[in-house]
Amino acid sequence: MDFQLSEKMEAALGLIDEFVNAELVPMETAFLTKDFRTLLPAIEKKREMVKQMGLWAPGHPQELGGMGLDLVDLGLVSEALGRTPLGHFVFGCHAPDAGNVEILHLYGSPEQNERYLKQLVAGSIRSCFSMTEVEMPGSNPVMMETTAVKDGDDYVINGQKWYTTAADGATFAIVMAITDPEAPPHQRASMIIVPTDTPGFDLVRNINIMGHAGEDYFSHAEILYHSCRVPQSNLLGPEGQGFVIAQERLGPGRIHHCMRWIGVCNRAFDLMCAHAVSRPISPDETLADKDIVRAWIAECSAEIQAARLLTLHTAWKIEQLGWKEARQDISMIKFVVAGAMQKVVDRALQVHGGLGMTDDTILAFFYRHERAARIYDGPDEVQKLSLARRILSEYKAP
Ligand SMILES: Cc1cc2nc3c(=O)[nH]c(=O)nc-3n(C[C@H](O)[C@H](O)[C@H](O)COP(=O)(O)OP(=O)(O)OC[C@H]3O[C@@H](n4cnc5c(N)ncnc54)[C@H](O)[C@@H]3O)c2cc1C
Repeated sequence: MDFQLSEKMEAALGLIDEFVNAELVPMETAFLTKDFRTLLPAIEKKREMVKQMGLWAPGHPQELGGMGLDLVDLGLVSEALGRTPLGHFVFGCHAPDAGNVEILHLYGSPEQNERYLKQLVAGSIRSCFSMTEVEMPGSNPVMMETTAVKDGDDYVINGQKWYTTAADGATFAIVMAITDPEAPPHQRASMIIVPTDTPGFDLVRNINIMGHAGEDYFSHAEILYHSCRVPQSNLLGPEGQGFVIAQERLGPGRIHHCMRWIGVCNRAFDLMCAHAVSRPISPDETLADKDIVRAWIAECSAEIQAARLLTLHTAWKIEQLGWKEARQDISMIKFVVAGAMQKVVDRALQVHGGLGMTDDTILAFFYRHERAARIYDGPDEVQKLSLARRILSEYKAP
């Protein structure tokens, strides 16, 4: 693996760092204290600036209007943008739209792509991904109750989902629903596009998460699909292939997430070090003079670097060999990076004392928002079991 950045990437990352520091970090106070919707006009202006700079949609193919970066370079961009919660949204590479663009690009019909894909890449509409259910284990989504039953030329969808991120204000949802209950478990579900203005798509509430109900892009909705009728032409990809397609979406998605989390770590680490050297703790000492703080700084620095290299190596392996060959690595980075981020943010917050608990720094937001990293897209325990199963399958008792 070559660690040398191309000139193009070095220049792009330099521009992104400057933009994040000059244009986005100053918006964070408003982001932390106001309804996200009130910031949308200002965010739209920043998005226009990003487009003018040629840095829009870094991971999407060039023919769709993106930069067409490979996974390693996209990971580096994701790291740079992860320093602020606004980064990915302003650069047009935010979840869940980024994953939905990938699925549409691979499986969308010409009509679906004409109607949704171009606008999604351009950032003029948003989407969401609706799989997890209230009553069933998201860790084992083959246990799904939502059904899509054929009736004439339509599917009629019934079910209750929650944690549909960014549903508030989205134009359409990609819904996972059982289309053939008699098929083998992994072939029962399909992906179906449901415009959010379809009768029977009922957004019940934006769920309160750690004391905060986000709005718009920063929301997580509970949704009732109540005799929700869409044409069968809204099927995305082959019928019964929902889980296969979901797997394809997860591999590259993990790289985006994990490198974004490394960006969160870098920001928290910088804040921790800056605070440690400036906060007096006795008449002639700062926090940085204390051994325990020094040990945290050393440990965090090593843990971030280890997590970063593991993730970049996984991105490289996916590029070289495909995501199936990198399955163990993909499981590994999910829990290693999420765990490192939790530790780094926690220590940074601790070093800030009472200030760390306030919204006067970004740390409290990171602390509550990013805790979910150990749960979504497969909780730690599921990743560890899957990794151990693959490792042990290579051993036989003598
Ligand atoms: C912030 C956030 C955003 C999300 N966004 C989306 C989204 O956009 N779309 C969507 O469809 N879903 C989304 N989800 C849902 C997420 O994918 C699920 O929460 C996740 O898959 C876990 O499912 P569950 O909550 O039903 O937990 P369960 O499956 O009930 O598991 C509960 C806990 O049990 C443990 N566990 C599970 N399985 C095992 C096992 N085999 N062995 C040992 N322990 C186990 C784990 O600790 C797990 O945390 C989001 C979740 C969060 C928190």
